[in-house]
Amino acid sequence: MDYLLTEEQKMLREMVAKFAKEEIGPEARENQEKGIYPKDVIKKAGELGLMGVAYPPEYGGSGMDFVSYILAIEEISRYCASTGVIVSAHSSLCIDPIFKFGSEEQKKKYMPDLCSGREIGCLGLTEPGAGSDVGATKTTARLEGNKWILNGTKQFITNGAEAGTAVITAMTDPEKKARGLSAFIVKTDTPGFKVGKHEEKLGINATSTTELIMEDCEIPEENILGERGKGLKIALVTLDGGRLGIAAQALGIARAAIEDGIAYAKEREQFGQPIANFQAIQWMIADMWTEYEASWLLTYRASLMKDRGLRYTKEAAMAKLKASEVSSFCANKSLQIHGGYGYTKEFDVERYLRDAKITEIYEGTSEVMRMVIAANLIA
Ligand SMILES: Cc1cc2nc3c(=O)[nH]c(=O)nc-3n(C[C@H](O)[C@H](O)[C@H](O)COP(=O)(O)OP(=O)(O)OC[C@H]3O[C@@H](n4cnc5c(N)ncnc54)[C@H](O)[C@@H]3O)c2cc1C
Repeated sequence: MDYLLTEEQKMLREMVAKFAKEEIGPEARENQEKGIYPKDVIKKAGELGLMGVAYPPEYGGSGMDFVSYILAIEEISRYCASTGVIVSAHSSLCIDPIFKFGSEEQKKKYMPDLCSGREIGCLGLTEPGAGSDVGATKTTARLEGNKWILNGTKQFITNGAEAGTAVITAMTDPEKKARGLSAFIVKTDTPGFKVGKHEEKLGINATSTTELIMEDCEIPEENILGERGKGLKIALVTLDGGRLGIAAQALGIARAAIEDGIAYAKEREQFGQPIANFQAIQWMIADMWTEYEASWLLTYRASLMKDRGLRYTKEAAMAKLKASEVSSFCANKSLQIHGGYGYTKEFDVERYLRDAKITEIYEGTSEVMRMVIAANLIA
């Protein structure tokens, strides 16, 4: 599908593929097993311009397009899905809302440190009682004088332990329900802001997933992001882009599973010949690759629409739905090709299966994706 890409996009993809293979891949398994955040890799990613691929140079970004960013996330996730989501949550969920909804002053103040990777970003949207239903947010922000005072707990926040800047949603006007939600930029060293419980997880174990607790956390009045009461819109627009980052993460995992499956099938012999000779194995490989390319095209199409300024909510949901389910499908089939060895820690494929599952859940579950797609078709 290279003919769909520009020379610049192909060059970036090649550069990231090399970086991922040589520097991310070798430590991926150990980091995942021991739950080690890949600090040096993220620092290097920052130096390579990968922490702010799709933002203008005047705010510290690399000035490339969104398709390039998506290609980068796929290549990174091919070797380490944890690193993929660290970069994706940082870019799509934190820098993006600041870039889209922030004032000129906020963009100049916060984006350069984030785009360079000197600082890590996160989004605190989910709460114990507000997952798919963002309107049920309980965190509050009260304006007193020229300060907002935040109180509440966010749940399951990627990069929660490392982030220096967080975009946080909170109710400013609870009586208005979802229309009373606003968004804020919060520095995580603000008194009253603390990191709570660290989750132990099935996969993506080199990422932190934490609670964020705010207790009378005072931030300047000007740290509101966009207009008061527009938090739901900011969250939904942010998630449209974020879902493509997750689709790209899912594509990377799927490709890893397929490539490992093919390599194993060519090497493993049973009944006096490589198992790749058996039609049952060949059909699994054919099905995996066909599903992968279908997902890639959906993701590319939605990313191109974003680059062209078109509305792409439905297309992003379709891409994320398809790519995430295909990711789990491919990891599962590849494990089957690996037989008993695939079930052991000797091979990476069991990790792919564990990592793939989360792509069907975060930034909107597959059920929520179907709701978004259907709502757009019925409307
Ligand atoms: C590892 C990890 C990282 C995460 N990172 C972040 C992050 O960085 N920032 C952040 O804000 N959040 C993050 N999340 C939260 C994530 O986005 C939510 O877990 C997800 O949106 C689902 O919410 P929930 O877990 O509360 O599930 P629920 O909303 O309780 O859903 C439970 C089940 O009910 C289904 N369901 C819910 N409503 C409906 C409906 N109307 N119709 C049909 N089915 C429905 C769901 O599809 C699901 O199957 C993360 C979660 C995890 C596990």
